[in-house]
Amino acid sequence: MKATKIKTLLKSSEIKKSFVVQGWVKTFRAKRFIALNDGSSLKNLQCIVDFENLEESLLKRITTGAALHLEGKLVESQGEGQKVELLVEKLEVLGDSDPEKYPIQPKKHSLEFLREKAHLRVRTTTFAAVMRIRSKLSFAVHNFFQEQGFYYVNTPIITGSDAEGAGEMFRVSTLDAKNPPLNEVGNPDYKQDFFGKETNLTVSGQLEAETYALGLGEVYTFGPTFRAENSNTTRHLAEFWMIEPEMAFYDLTDNMDLAEKFIRSVLKEILDNCFEDLEFLDDRLVKEDQSKPQAERSPMGLREKIKFVINNDFKRVSYTEAFEILRNSKQNKKKKFKFPVIQWGVDLQSEHERYLVESHFNCPVILYDYPANIKAFYMRRNEDNKTVRAMDILFPGIGEIVGGSQREERLEVLEKRIEEMNIDKKELWWYLDLRRFGTVPHSGFGLGFERLVQFTTGMSNIRDVIPFPRTPLNASF
Ligand code: ATP
Ligand code: MN
Repeated sequence: MKATKIKTLLKSSEIKKSFVVQGWVKTFRAKRFIALNDGSSLKNLQCIVDFENLEESLLKRITTGAALHLEGKLVESQGEGQKVELLVEKLEVLGDSDPEKYPIQPKKHSLEFLREKAHLRVRTTTFAAVMRIRSKLSFAVHNFFQEQGFYYVNTPIITGSDAEGAGEMFRVSTLDAKNPPLNEVGNPDYKQDFFGKETNLTVSGQLEAETYALGLGEVYTFGPTFRAENSNTTRHLAEFWMIEPEMAFYDLTDNMDLAEKFIRSVLKEILDNCFEDLEFLDDRLVKEDQSKPQAERSPMGLREKIKFVINNDFKRVSYTEAFEILRNSKQNKKKKFKFPVIQWGVDLQSEHERYLVESHFNCPVILYDYPANIKAFYMRRNEDNKTVRAMDILFPGIGEIVGGSQREERLEVLEKRIEEMNIDKKELWWYLDLRRFGTVPHSGFGLGFERLVQFTTGMSNIRDVIPFPRTPLNASF
């Protein structure tokens, strides 16, 4: 008999029928009640071992963490808390678990502790819920774009262009690290390396995605992205997943409209389909909040926040307007910002973004038309010749979740910018070709998938929403 998923059994009305279940013991009480979980559901299946001649030696092996194969009859539960339970008739221990050594005990563990047990933490209710939602969200991402007629393109992970400019890169090389061949000036000679040039792990698939947008029309990437930034924050990983749609014939407004529609659509999918996991994470957040001082507590519950984003338009504000709001804020006048807002043109720090989103507007904000000097070379220059058609989406509790722009489609303007910024133009010959042959206005954005999972699950540290986080000094699993 094939095993039935616990999720299915919990909803089943096939009383008295026999079933097989397989999973891991969460708890075992009174030598009688096994709470079994197989990952299919937040809830455990209560399984009752109450048959004669069950040997004491077998009973001893039913410990927290052990893997079991059970066969028995589904019956209406006598106890509270569940509709049905399994009356076990046959029990096999598939994998023992030493209760003294098993790290995931049936008690509350700190998230920090669990990070050190990343290979086992998905056995906890919290991580299982987060990872189920992560999986659903990925699917929702593909679903949204596929339904809109976008094509999924896989851009390279190893890149030969160092012009992406989005952050520090990890070098990819097969040269002998101890004794690399050297060039005339005494540096490692990458001409002798695997690709005959210096290569790195990608920080963004955008430039390559643009080439596909200018042929397939509307495309998106969804893949791993790497940044060797030594920032130990709750929102940065060295390896994360990025979703990057890129669309021909879109201007900046079309781009913002798409981003809003996209975020709403995937959040709605989770709200509609992940009821139990969301309810659990919502409660978890409420409990966590109770241990915080009043001022730091969240004004909204998790599901409330998600609904708020689904039901309210994001506030669209130009950089210049935002700059004035910040400059005139009490915060700024009382010198409460670490980085005072004085001069138009400064890059906004996360304290400023938080002020705008969490204190001033109290809703997701799209900032657009940034000063050219703080943005990448490929963003389209505005008529004022000072700003570019960039847009960042800022979320409460998260900060920047999306960074995007309309791309510069005019060859001369783009070339001039590349020169001004001292970027090697030769490297970008293929990118410039797009502006030579059938150039069109086009736009796109990048959304950090883990930051979206953070928002959806209410997890405050990005390390807790990816199975195996890669951060400085941490790549153990
Ligand atoms: P930040 O200012 O937060 O470092 P960024 O300006 O470097 O972000 P972009 O280069 O615009 O970000 O990347 C697009 C999106 O990718 C960001 O909006 C964010 O959601 C996500 N992102 C960027 N860096 C990281 C990272 N190190 N870990 C996780 N997600 C990231
Ligand atoms: Mn960054």
